[in-house]
Amino acid sequence: MLNVGIDIGGTKIAGGIVDPDGAILDRRRVPTPSDPQALADAVAAMVADLVTDRVVHAVGVAAAGFIDASRSVILHAPNIDWTDEPLRDELERRIGRPVTLENDANAAGWGEYRFGAGREVRDMVMITLGTGVGGAAIIDGELLVGGNGIGGELGHIRFERGGRPCGCGQNGCLEQYASGRALQREAAEIAASGAFGAGLAEVRTAEGIVPAAAMEALIAAGDAGALEAVHRVATALGEACGGFQAVLDPGLFVIGGGVADLGERLLSPVREAYATALPGYGERPIASFAIATLGNDAGLIGVADLAGGRV
Ligand code: BGC
Ligand code: ZN
Repeated sequence: MLNVGIDIGGTKIAGGIVDPDGAILDRRRVPTPSDPQALADAVAAMVADLVTDRVVHAVGVAAAGFIDASRSVILHAPNIDWTDEPLRDELERRIGRPVTLENDANAAGWGEYRFGAGREVRDMVMITLGTGVGGAAIIDGELLVGGNGIGGELGHIRFERGGRPCGCGQNGCLEQYASGRALQREAAEIAASGAFGAGLAEVRTAEGIVPAAAMEALIAAGDAGALEAVHRVATALGEACGGFQAVLDPGLFVIGGGVADLGERLLSPVREAYATALPGYGERPIASFAIATLGNDAGLIGVADLAGGRV
């Protein structure tokens, strides 16, 4: 039985045909249009292009936003222009078949739980570090959605009082300190400060941005400024995980999204910061940390599987 999975993120839409073992047989990728109608058109076109003459059991769509309890309306999205967007109906009208809608990080967490880093556990927390910071909690094998459908929004806990403004309308959210964007912002601040050498300042554009590719190269070369930017992001994430442990007590944290490509370079400072923030550290079980094994495909694989189970 084949399912279609589509993952709508802040910068790109990724889609694929997914088999029952979570393998992607065919895939597509386009930039995310900013207009909501154009976005729905792009998703419908991608589904049609993937299905062609295949027999497809279910269609799942993962979206980076707050989805209502009935799993049909995006109430709010910090990084996409959606407010009270009836996305499921818009998609079903265009596609002509039922669509399962789920939060993108929930979908990614489910994908990792079923087929990836969380295969062996029943309790895990997934954190995705991309344009935004997404969260998913799987507790005793069940995906936590909360009473209003918006549970597990781990990127929007207040990390710093009076901190940086966030797309959710608040300020100081973890997302502003631990996302891919936050990594670039830290790099730009370090470059401007002149501390930690000239590496970052040399690759900074006229607009003051440190491009992601240049950042990767500097990290690989061991540049002190670039490593400091990683350390700041990892510390924010690790400290927040100490708090998540207090609430959800998972056996495993799975870290995904683009920033997770840093692998151990990210995870070791995350573990250190976690140890400084976990209540009762040293006298209680602690969680393991792993990088997502499905990479950027976790969301589309997870939502295809969820859709298959719900139809
Ligand atoms: C949104 C989440 C989403 C995450 C990752 C956050 O800003 O609030 O719903 O899962 O970004 O895309
Ligand atoms: Zn926020």
